[in-house]
Amino acid sequence: QAKQAGRGRHAFFEWALDEAAHSRRLLELDLRTALREAGAPQLALRFQPIVQVASGRVSGFEALVRWDRPGHGLVGPAEFVPAAEEIGLIDELGRLVLERSCKEASRWPSSIRLAVNLSPLQFRAPGLVETVSNALLRSGLAPARLELEITEGVLLEDTEANLTVLRRLKQIGVRIAIDDFGTGYSSLNYLRSFPFDKVKIDRAFVHNLGGHDADRAIVRATIALCRELGIVTTAEGVETEEQFQLLASKGCDELQGYFISEPVTAEAVDETRHHIEIRLSSVRSAVSTDL
Ligand code: C2E
Ligand code: MG
Ligand code: MG
Ligand code: MG
Repeated sequence: QAKQAGRGRHAFFEWALDEAAHSRRLLELDLRTALREAGAPQLALRFQPIVQVASGRVSGFEALVRWDRPGHGLVGPAEFVPAAEEIGLIDELGRLVLERSCKEASRWPSSIRLAVNLSPLQFRAPGLVETVSNALLRSGLAPARLELEITEGVLLEDTEANLTVLRRLKQIGVRIAIDDFGTGYSSLNYLRSFPFDKVKIDRAFVHNLGGHDADRAIVRATIALCRELGIVTTAEGVETEEQFQLLASKGCDELQGYFISEPVTAEAVDETRHHIEIRLSSVRSAVSTDL
């Protein structure tokens, strides 16, 4: 009896594993089709505004990729970027995102920047610098308006090779930001290895600002250190007015998150920018600076 139950359980796990492997295979096949299709119409971009505290203006938008997978709705990058990496399609995906978002941003006022995410694998691929300069050339976007977001994962391995790529990107004139700052290892060491333009404080720290003393201390110290080093700070995941006020009063340069706006379509960028700037004029007048 017990033996039989054990066998049943075993069979169940095997079946569940098969199921997971099977749906992963399907996802990979669908993704390959989506990327190979002319113009890749299933892939879409959303743009999330970033506001500059000092001016109360929208200073840029971050491009965030989505996949309108048939039968699955709009799928987020966490679900398919790892798959794209695994099946060797991350270069194609990255090129598509860069080309399209640069073209979009070239229509915005010249004071508005574009931020684009790069995964560690993309960063290590040989053609990255060419891909970036091609996207800039084809769109006519000024290099200084493009900011590339890399995670600490990029900086962990092959430090010399990575620094070379970073230097070449800086030579083109693009800006480099560290994304999800504080979630990797030995973060402070990176800040002396390369002249980064921006640090994006991970939303995990922002989330705990109200309650968690240690997180509040980390955020305050990061802002102070970056200021000392001439690095712009952006806090991500700002969801409440309380977080907005706190970060603004601590001297954080830029804020991004649902409190300001969710990511919007390319068509909505202009209107969203205007709405935010009107709404923020009242929120900002309540900020007390304790610098
Ligand atoms: P990220 O670069 O840290 O982007 C911020 C993520 O947080 C986005 O999720 C955004 O929608 C979400 N977010 C923004 N504001 C808030 C908020 O107030 N609260 C909460 N809870 N979340 C907020 P998304 O779009 O799902 O992207 C997830 C990650 O996928 C991104 O994290 C980025 O690392 C990666 N990613 C996105 N687009 C691309 C891309 O084109 N290429 C690559 N390689 N990675 C991408
Ligand atoms: Mg990012
Ligand atoms: Mg981020
Ligand atoms: Mg993040």
